[in-house]
Amino acid sequence: MKDNGCIYEILVLLKDCYMQYYSMNYDKCLLAQWLRQPLRDINLINERLDVVELLVDNSQLRLQLHDDHLRRIPDLRALARRLTRKKANLHDCYRIYQAINRLPPLLQCLAEANNATVHSSIAEPISELNDDLIKFQQMIESTVDMEAVDKGEFLVNPAFDEQLQTLRGELDQLQASAEKELSKAARDLGLDAGKTIKLESNPQNGYCLRVTMKEEQSLRGNKKYTIIDAVKGGVRFKTNTLANLTDDYVTTKATYEKEQDKVVAEIVGIASGYSECLFCLSHVLSRLDVLVSFAVAAATAPHPYCRPVVTEDIDNFVLKDVRHPCLEVQEGVSFIPNDVVFKRDSCLMHVVTGANMGGKSTWMRSCGAAALLAHAGCLVPAASATVPRLKALCARVGAADREQRGQSTFMLEMIESATILRTATPDSLVLIDELGRGTSTYEGCGIAWAIAEELATKCKCFCLFATHYHELTRLPSLHPGVIVNSHAEASVVDQQLLLLHKIAPGPATHSLGLHVAKLADLPESIIEYAEAKQAQLETNLFETDNSNDQESSAGQELILEFLRKCKNIEASHTSDEELFKEIKVLKKNLLQQDNKYLQSLMIGCDK
Ligand code: ATP
Repeated sequence: MKDNGCIYEILVLLKDCYMQYYSMNYDKCLLAQWLRQPLRDINLINERLDVVELLVDNSQLRLQLHDDHLRRIPDLRALARRLTRKKANLHDCYRIYQAINRLPPLLQCLAEANNATVHSSIAEPISELNDDLIKFQQMIESTVDMEAVDKGEFLVNPAFDEQLQTLRGELDQLQASAEKELSKAARDLGLDAGKTIKLESNPQNGYCLRVTMKEEQSLRGNKKYTIIDAVKGGVRFKTNTLANLTDDYVTTKATYEKEQDKVVAEIVGIASGYSECLFCLSHVLSRLDVLVSFAVAAATAPHPYCRPVVTEDIDNFVLKDVRHPCLEVQEGVSFIPNDVVFKRDSCLMHVVTGANMGGKSTWMRSCGAAALLAHAGCLVPAASATVPRLKALCARVGAADREQRGQSTFMLEMIESATILRTATPDSLVLIDELGRGTSTYEGCGIAWAIAEELATKCKCFCLFATHYHELTRLPSLHPGVIVNSHAEASVVDQQLLLLHKIAPGPATHSLGLHVAKLADLPESIIEYAEAKQAQLETNLFETDNSNDQESSAGQELILEFLRKCKNIEASHTSDEELFKEIKVLKKNLLQQDNKYLQSLMIGCDK
């Protein structure tokens, strides 16, 4: 399906709405991509629909995948990217290892679904990638110190490298010597090693001993011990042996870390060879996650979703009881479903009129969202849906200005309308909401009229065209069997506006903008003045129309008189020269008449 940029608003709404059902919390771009680039291949659409339908019906499988498996898998794409850039560390490698460990139970869960599409499109690719990653698992198991991981440290297993093993031995020996020094000091001071006197090690002081405050006097005047500081937990001090052991430990540790960095670089280098495999795995898992999120959205909606029938037949497009997926889940909203019916032989375009706040835009957006979701392979919020395979979904909705890009609201409307006219084909859905507002009433109405006629008669696309220009409701009588009127039902009961949010056939009978203004708490004085001004403007318009009618009939009478006289001259004269002379005089007299109709006819003519 062609993305012409006009469906942006619907996309953003849907993306925000569906994002909350995501479990993996990281690879959100695949969902955005599926909505921005929906499918046109009916087989692929049905493949996705098969999986989503299965997940909606099998709640145990859906919850297991959503809550137990996918939620626990880290951002494999980001980790693989770190590997390819050689920016990964041992911790990253371990996280990948953990993710791969989670694949067998995930595969077991998918196998229990016992579904051919799940098996071929998801389980099989994951299983193959899992096999490819076995060597990665083995490498991590042999190179990472798993005991240290339990303590939250990510170190190379010393047994993996001879040099590291020797250095680790030296470090262990230094540690043992420090502990010996602790026992010696405990004996010397008559304290209990590990209880009243302890061995500590920190980056500032290296190895040191600590006694409680109570035992502090035993150190006083003892030249063997150098006091470092007194802290809340006691007094810290060291001996010459401990100072020497610290120096040795620091040097050996530095050598160890240098050697370990070399080994880590080697491990990361080997691991980066698996990045392509990890990208693929991330993609398959993301696909599964989007399908699960579609299923969660459908299963948790207040009313059931249906599986759309996407067909090659571009003559029928019927949505029964369609709802807006984002609006219906909002708290306190009791959504009124509506039908959308397009039939190529009777109704290609709906001119939608009705009160402000009546639900016109919502109806159009519900239709757009359903068409988009169906092409993304998601169930749709409707009782039933027959959707033709669409080539484009174009929408001119909302009024997001682009001043920063030097485009006014009107300019943007015109640019988008031009794009729609260029893009729309018989297998396109076009949604147009209130076109032509940024200019004079007649100009705006003219633009809306011309675009509506072009879409209905030349582009022949499916179109919902919402407008406040009531003149456009005459279009169905000019194009019967192509354009129909529909309106959002509303009425005024006891001076109160009643919005039914139900779309019914036929045009809206009256405009209720002032009632909506009252709802919006516009000052009473402004409302009254607006009502008076509206009445005055309507009267002026009527009078102007009347005086125009008088001028034109007088002008037409003068023309008829002129033609009669010409005929008489023709009958009474013989020579052409005389005939032209007389007619020239008659013409001059006619043009000298003070009549606006005649003058308007003469504009641009050579008198
Ligand atoms: P305007 O002509 O002023 O643009 P509109 O006719 O396009 O108005 P919408 O924007 O579609 O009106 O709807 C206004 C509000 O009415 C929505 O935000 C929503 O809260 C409510 N609404 C619309 N349609 C429905 C519906 N079918 N069910 C329930 N509430 C609805």
